[in-house]
Amino acid sequence: MLQGKVAVITGASRGIGRAIALAMAENGATVIINYNGSAQRAEAVQQEILEKGGKAFVYQCNVSDYAATEQFIQDVIGEHGRIDILVNNAGITRDGLLMRMSEEDFDAVLDTNLKGTFHTIRFVARQMLKQKGGRIINLSSVSGITGNAGQANYSASKAGVIGLTKAVARELASRHITVNAIAPGFIETEMTDVLGEAVKAEAVKQIPLGAFGKPEDIANAAVFLASDQAAYITGQVIRVDGGMAM
Ligand code: NAP
Repeated sequence: MLQGKVAVITGASRGIGRAIALAMAENGATVIINYNGSAQRAEAVQQEILEKGGKAFVYQCNVSDYAATEQFIQDVIGEHGRIDILVNNAGITRDGLLMRMSEEDFDAVLDTNLKGTFHTIRFVARQMLKQKGGRIINLSSVSGITGNAGQANYSASKAGVIGLTKAVARELASRHITVNAIAPGFIETEMTDVLGEAVKAEAVKQIPLGAFGKPEDIANAAVFLASDQAAYITGQVIRVDGGMAM
């Protein structure tokens, strides 16, 4: 489905990003695995893809750093010639109640989740405009739609991703570049592993389909949005959440 395409996936060393990288490679894309600190894990994802006969390359970049992101995207274009798909998946949480939330924890989450998404789009869009086409997929969250107590920073960042998605979708539509967001609910990854058993049991009660999702559930939506089949979909927020935020 994605033969000949170059796909950049930020934060692909584990969790949802890893699943998206594996799925896009399986569908024929050349995958650019970005990570910030987990070099060995990013290389393990690359190895997994190569062993299955796919194409994958690893690039370190902290996407919250504007200049470093420009260099990263320039390097990818220099070495692979094009970028057809960008998945802004890199994200962090620094949960805490408002009254105890530090400025540092607010800024760190906004810098990675929202500004990081702006940074990659800023530089990848230049290339996609030249190519007169492309797919941008941003990871938002149900928390960005409904809000979540203890996640003022994270909810703000993910609501911001939705606004960014829609604004950029309008700006780039005339060049056949689609921009969409995926809003996952609770997905089984290291991000949600840190939640206590009691919190998880309470969370499951809010999910009509009665279980946490798997990273592959998000990857399936990402592959579809990246494919030709989704050519007429832009500016949308696709909820993959077991019915949580309907
Ligand atoms: P995860 O397991 O914690 O993985 C996060 C990934 O992001 C890692 O590969 C990490 O790489 C990378 N990353 C973090 N900061 C980065 C930075 N500054 N620059 C580049 N890469 C960075 O998270 P996940 O659960 O897979 O979540 C993936 C995305 O889905 C996030 O945007 C998250 O907010 C969103 N989401 C997740 C859920 C869920 O239930 N899991 C729900 C809704 C939305 P390093 O280790 O190398 O830093």
